[in-house]
Amino acid sequence: MTETTLETITALAKRRGFVYPTSEIYGGLASSYDYGPLGTELLRNIRNLWWREMLHKRPDMVGLDSQILLHPETWVASGHVASFTDPLVEDKETHKRYRADHLIEQWLAANPGKDDVAVEELTLAEMGEFIERNKVLSPEGNEISKPKAFNILFESAIGAVEGEKSKVYLRGETAQGIFSNFRQIVDSSRVRLPFGVGQIGKSFRNEITTGQFVFRTLEFEQAEIEYFFDPESTEWEPVFKEWQDAMWKFITETLGINEENLRWRRHSDKERSFYSKETYDLDYQFPFGFQELWGIAYRTDYDMQAHLKHSGRKLEYIDSQQGGKRIVPHVIEPALGINRVFLMLLCDAYWEDEENQRTVLRFKPSLAPYKVAVFPLLKNKPELVEKARGIFNNLLDHMTVTWDDRGNIGKRYYYQDEIGTPFCVTVDFDSLEDDAVTVRERDSATQERVKVSDLLAYLQERI
Ligand code: ATP
Repeated sequence: MTETTLETITALAKRRGFVYPTSEIYGGLASSYDYGPLGTELLRNIRNLWWREMLHKRPDMVGLDSQILLHPETWVASGHVASFTDPLVEDKETHKRYRADHLIEQWLAANPGKDDVAVEELTLAEMGEFIERNKVLSPEGNEISKPKAFNILFESAIGAVEGEKSKVYLRGETAQGIFSNFRQIVDSSRVRLPFGVGQIGKSFRNEITTGQFVFRTLEFEQAEIEYFFDPESTEWEPVFKEWQDAMWKFITETLGINEENLRWRRHSDKERSFYSKETYDLDYQFPFGFQELWGIAYRTDYDMQAHLKHSGRKLEYIDSQQGGKRIVPHVIEPALGINRVFLMLLCDAYWEDEENQRTVLRFKPSLAPYKVAVFPLLKNKPELVEKARGIFNNLLDHMTVTWDDRGNIGKRYYYQDEIGTPFCVTVDFDSLEDDAVTVRERDSATQERVKVSDLLAYLQERI
């Protein structure tokens, strides 16, 4: 099999309307992308499947949609203002900025066996020593500065009167809105510990790095869960394991990703945040190597205690079944990046079918932007067009359908394969006689004759 490169995926994504560089007419914006008509559908499918599997199918989960702009004290309490940083180095000639850990990783890959460090575990000072010891240069070949901590929270301001503006931050993660709403959720709904809150929404990080397409962008979408429990009555290990299993099942079964391209990576004691008792990353093998897709951490009661202290509010759960016992719950947090799932799906689905000389996105039908394409064999034959239109309109009530009457059938198949449409339905002259259509399946390229009256059931069964 030919190796799928990020360039191939990026080009296909642009050509077919999955992802465009943002603001292209103005020359683009670093690490920022827009999702085109097909990308938008794919994103919606990812979100909906995640929501269904993680929230709707679990009686112990509820949803939330909190603000991007939260009270700025939130980010002081959470520790983001003080320490949400990336290690930054600057090219001494061009003044371009890079992430020190990324330059070290690249150096290690280019110089196998010459030094040996676990990059994730290095402190700023240790990165500086590594850079000095190995004379690590910028990608342009120039000397680089010592690494500094660079805060990646985006700042903005509220207020119409200049000089009276108050600073706010665009949220760096969605999770904090869950913590700050904890009491309101408990008081206004019927949840009982243990329970979880899930949220999907945009987050923002002033990331230094560039060049990994939608893997790492300034603005991105997260799907995060905080699962709250009383550590005195619930052991954390089984809950952690249960969420790990749910994550794995979602990626392999719901999204249909090949297990060979997945791995769990446990954070070492040194890499893990001081408050976390256990952290794993679920990594996917992207064209640029295994990288984090989904993280899961047991964060103890660190966040709840921090907000309790900073807000002065009692962020407790009062357990009436335990005689009014006051509990500051602990949490387990599975945090997923929707855009990384998106990129993974494009990479995993991409297939160059050499035998049939075509490119195919082999999405699971539930993920495909369009489930079916309907064609009249010829666009200048009104009776074919009319019959095809009827079928098209009928299907619209049940699934996403696209219409195509350009070029010949071969070209239409080629195009639908490239955007991952699992079924193509063609209305031909025989259809006018036998009231049947040709249904062609994407991956096998096989064709079957199906009665129009059976078509909906036929497609639904396969989707
Ligand atoms: P990384 O180490 O790759 O920067 P992280 O450990 O900082 O990621 P988390 O803070 O755990 O990431 O965020 C949860 C999830 O959000 C990640 O697993 C990832 O899927 C996604 N994510 C984080 N940063 C970005 C980004 N800049 N662009 C796209 N997705 C992101």
